Amino acid sequence: MPTKKKEDKKIKPVKAVKKPTVVKAKPVKVVKSVKVAKFVKRPNKPEVKKEVGVDEERNSSPWKPLRGMRDILPKQEKYWQTLYDNAKAMATYFHFGRIETPILEEAKLFLRTLGKNTDIVSKEMYVFEQQEESGKICLRPEATASVMRAYIANGLWNQSQPVKMWYWGPMFRHDRPQAGRYRQFYQVGYEIIGANDPIMDAELILVAYNFYKDLGLPVTIQINSIGLPEERERYANELVSYYRTKRSYLCESCRQRLIKNPLRLLDCKEDQCQPIKDGAPQILDWLTESSKSYFMKVLEYLDDLEVPYVLQPNLVRGLDYYTHTVFEVFPALENDDDKNLQQLSQIALGGGGRYDLLGKEMAGRETPASGMALGVDRSIMVLKEYAKNHEIKISEPKMDIFFAQLGERAKGQALKLINNLKQSGLKIGFNLYKNSLKTQLESANAMAVPYALILGQKEMQDGTIIIRDMESGIQEIVDQKKIEVLIKKRLSSL
Ligand code: AMP
Repeated sequence: MPTKKKEDKKIKPVKAVKKPTVVKAKPVKVVKSVKVAKFVKRPNKPEVKKEVGVDEERNSSPWKPLRGMRDILPKQEKYWQTLYDNAKAMATYFHFGRIETPILEEAKLFLRTLGKNTDIVSKEMYVFEQQEESGKICLRPEATASVMRAYIANGLWNQSQPVKMWYWGPMFRHDRPQAGRYRQFYQVGYEIIGANDPIMDAELILVAYNFYKDLGLPVTIQINSIGLPEERERYANELVSYYRTKRSYLCESCRQRLIKNPLRLLDCKEDQCQPIKDGAPQILDWLTESSKSYFMKVLEYLDDLEVPYVLQPNLVRGLDYYTHTVFEVFPALENDDDKNLQQLSQIALGGGGRYDLLGKEMAGRETPASGMALGVDRSIMVLKEYAKNHEIKISEPKMDIFFAQLGERAKGQALKLINNLKQSGLKIGFNLYKNSLKTQLESANAMAVPYALILGQKEMQDGTIIIRDMESGIQEIVDQKKIEVLIKKRLSSL
């Protein structure tokens, strides 16, 4: 429970420790607070505000999806599949077991744990009355509380600790839709529950960093420590005193935050509040020695791992359950030649932190934990933009051969032969709905396959098939039974 200001005397050294002692000098770029004398209006921050609907394009059909929701069409699959494969590869390598929790949960799970003054709880949750049972239910707005609920409900305390789990799935927040912000969006998350060690935080940040590095997107980590609730309480008091003197310059939301949730003052994006925010006291100065030393260790690990990070004193993550380390992942594109990409460097791709008190709050038992979630939709949006003039690693399904057919009867036999080759491992392109050989060979060309198989009426009768070399146009008639062997031989000699 938060301590009152009067009782803080014992932990007074807090204020005495200077900022630089927290930060290891070498690769750390401390974001300095700039004291701005006059509260002038700053130029607008670049923000992508385009609203998006079906597969990122507005759709005028009466059957369009709900606002802020969208259909993800097959042509997007290569991105979704690549990210999923990458997420799974991280999980396998770092030993996270897959957890799937329900999309519907009791509303109180989030109301009690995220904090009633957070945006998610106060205005973004989809909450429903149940018909037969009492108690409200909701579409999950995030999954950390669900994973902790599952850990408690399934007695995962009894397993070897910590328990490492990952998830991938849709989350729902009734937010104002715009590019990169949807009402249904996907997150991939990694949680480590049941241990209290700064290496856990470093490992999670490393997983987030690797996730993007392996895709070819440069990212940087913004990091801060928000200590324990009593430290935060003392800091919040200081913040309120500072902001009160500048109340008349604040935006309407910040005036509310000043009363309801002072730490959220640091999240404000309004131009008029930026200079005030820049001059605000910094939470690191209000942490106890032990919290600082915990944070130092996380930073030292990151230095050793050569994960690029920036200390961000304004980062608080806004949810009640966080303690100590908090971080967010941003594209490192501020120095890119392309102006559009520079703008994307302000879009948070993911975030996380330590949440030592969530388990205790829910089950009355010490359950230290740390976790993070990466936004899949937003990551894909940024990757696609980045891919316009940079190389990224998106795996597209590549066909080995194309199977063309001529004539109605040949269609049936073609489908049968394609099906017989299912176990061969060959990836076969085909289009049985086109009758023209020319059109089918054009498809084969578009797929850039080296060989096409052609089955016509004559081959049907003879039990043969034509192998066509797509580059030279040379064709050879072979026995249908030998397709697999012959094609594999040719492919291996390419
Ligand atoms: P949060 O824990 O709220 O910071 O969310 C983690 C990540 O999920 C963010 O950095 C975003 O990439 C993604 N995310 C959060 N809210 C949305 C949203 N409404 N639409 C799309 N992505 C989101």
